[in-house]
Amino acid sequence: MGTDLTPIESIELRTVTLPLVEPFEASYGVERSKNALIVTLRKGEILAFGECVAGTGSSHGEETVDSAKQVVKNRLAPNLLEDRLKTPAEFLETVEHLSGCDMAVAAAEMALWDLQGKIESKPLSRLLGGVGVEVGACGTVGIQKTPKEVVNRVNKYLVEGYKTVKLKIKPSQDVEYVKAVRAKFPDVSLRVDANGAYRLRNLDTLKQLDKFGLSLIEQPFAQDALADHSKLRRELSTPICLDESIRSPDDAKKAIDAEACGVINIKPGRVRGLHRSREIHDICVDRSIPVLCGGMLETGIGRAFDVALATLPGFTLPCDLSASHRYFKRDLILNEFQLTPNGKLTVPTGVGCGVTVDQPYFDSVTTSRELLTEAKRFAKQKSIPEGGL
Ligand code: MG
Repeated sequence: MGTDLTPIESIELRTVTLPLVEPFEASYGVERSKNALIVTLRKGEILAFGECVAGTGSSHGEETVDSAKQVVKNRLAPNLLEDRLKTPAEFLETVEHLSGCDMAVAAAEMALWDLQGKIESKPLSRLLGGVGVEVGACGTVGIQKTPKEVVNRVNKYLVEGYKTVKLKIKPSQDVEYVKAVRAKFPDVSLRVDANGAYRLRNLDTLKQLDKFGLSLIEQPFAQDALADHSKLRRELSTPICLDESIRSPDDAKKAIDAEACGVINIKPGRVRGLHRSREIHDICVDRSIPVLCGGMLETGIGRAFDVALATLPGFTLPCDLSASHRYFKRDLILNEFQLTPNGKLTVPTGVGCGVTVDQPYFDSVTTSRELLTEAKRFAKQKSIPEGGL
């Protein structure tokens, strides 16, 4: 590993808006289109990509596409353009003091993994230490108006070949929905995800959900409610999966110590990228907590990183990821993710993240573009009057 990842010659920041096949509703709100920040690093002939999972509103936490863009531009870009970094982990050390910007950091960190894979001519899954050629998938049904509509959506996924289905739920749109699905599909592997919409006062409802043989209940309570999750865990036989609560390896340790969960959903885009995702994975393997890899409605670029991560051996549960066309009429990549006949997603074998960006389409959905270079930075610095500001 003799090659320096930096200096990077340029960093391109693009915001894109992709139309969704249909609006997607969860307990936090409705998403009608996908807005993303795509970070492209250029080093010589190599272009390396990373995607930021921040949304436009508050749906995915406190970071937004715009705030993340400013962080990459003002806080992270100087390190990428100047520092001598040999690994993505070294980059994380240089930005350890920054807080409240995990999603922005993740976008840059993952682009560095892509770069490293491309420099070393290795697929990302192998660079991470993963095994296998495909990973389990899961179809997610957003909140629907009626139980019947949920049943229809589940049926659609099963016809397409999905083996696991997840239902988004929220108070008052939960028990009847799950009951209807179970009545129609008694044996399907079924998960529910509340995105933190319940409180301990809803214990009776959650106990009712316990009767349906669910494979997990994801994030019933708020992200910082570890003690409540522990209490709930003692009341239910269904495994509790924590998602929003896990933002770092430390969070994973605390949640396991508090016996707050039986499963952890690792989302690289929210935990500063792949290095820390792998750390969380290792902690969970060590403590015998199964993990699954979750997506955040990423385009094919971000999805490639999730799929690569999910090849690590501790990811024994199907990913929370589905084929590209589930969300987008057309994805940002040429080799779109498709479901295999056995209901899985194929791990890209190309170098780095292994996907090829559909450049004309990428251009057509771009809403802003900014190119950062060291020369520009230097020119800007020189314009500061002598004696400083
Ligand atoms: Mg979730």
